[in-house]
Amino acid sequence: MTTAFYTHADCKRHEMGSWHPECPERLQAIEDQLIASRIDSLIDYREAPPADESELARVHTADAIYRIRENCPTAESEYTYFPLDADTSLNAYSWRAALRAAGAAVAATDAVIAGELDNAFCSVRPPGHHATPSEAMGFCLFNNVAIAAKHAMDVHGLKKVAIVDFDVHHGNGTEAAFIGDPRVLMVSFFQHPFYPFSGTGHPAANMVNVPVPAHSYGETVRQVVIDQWLPALHEHQPEMIFISAGFDAHREDDMAQMGLVEADYAWITQKIMEVAKTYAKGRIVSCLEGGYNLSALGRSVVAHIKVLAELE
Ligand SMILES: [Zn+2]
Repeated sequence: MTTAFYTHADCKRHEMGSWHPECPERLQAIEDQLIASRIDSLIDYREAPPADESELARVHTADAIYRIRENCPTAESEYTYFPLDADTSLNAYSWRAALRAAGAAVAATDAVIAGELDNAFCSVRPPGHHATPSEAMGFCLFNNVAIAAKHAMDVHGLKKVAIVDFDVHHGNGTEAAFIGDPRVLMVSFFQHPFYPFSGTGHPAANMVNVPVPAHSYGETVRQVVIDQWLPALHEHQPEMIFISAGFDAHREDDMAQMGLVEADYAWITQKIMEVAKTYAKGRIVSCLEGGYNLSALGRSVVAHIKVLAELE
């Protein structure tokens, strides 16, 4: 298997204050853990290119793009951060980082569809799944996975794709981008009730987003996958699978109150791999979303990548 790891130095230059959990050290923790696990030499490292605005515009409104592009502070600004919401802001590098994050997902999609790669992990930030077509929110600027999924359909002509979101939060931005679009099946679980307090009021047939209570462990989530995700995925028969790979449902992550461990992330990834091999020529592009305990994040991404690369 050839598994690529897309990232870019600009993704470590975007930051929202020293107190903020969505911090550049997250990407360093992932890279350090890949080295410590001795799988770094087995992965195809690739520099993420910037997305261009026409690619963003497949998902986002012109206003949403303008707001990020024009509001990043410059050397002349009297402030370091431009606030977008209570916990999302721009620094001087945010536009560049956001372009690299979306660009990683698009480039990975191109390479996987071309058959150069079996699959890819995009180790990027800012994350994306809370960003709606019209609004940045919840640490997210542009919806990297949604942009890649639209690219696969609009540019490469794929007719059916699936988005699997295992972040602890509901991917409200992805849902907003694709609700009612029969080409796209979204499956997720999310802690409920919890930020962003959405995901339960939309019975659209293509949205299999399953609320689970706080203090749920891997057993509960695995049952959701077996009972709800897999039947929907087998029915949809996606030609490619995109993963919103958030690791904040980990037991050691105090952003939320769930109890997953590395073995659960490996198991979920294995199930996604099986569906991808059955219907999608194995094509998977996975993009980092949440995950704020640095040690648990690094270990969980290693577990995820080991399954993608079939290293164990
Ligand atoms: Zn999250």
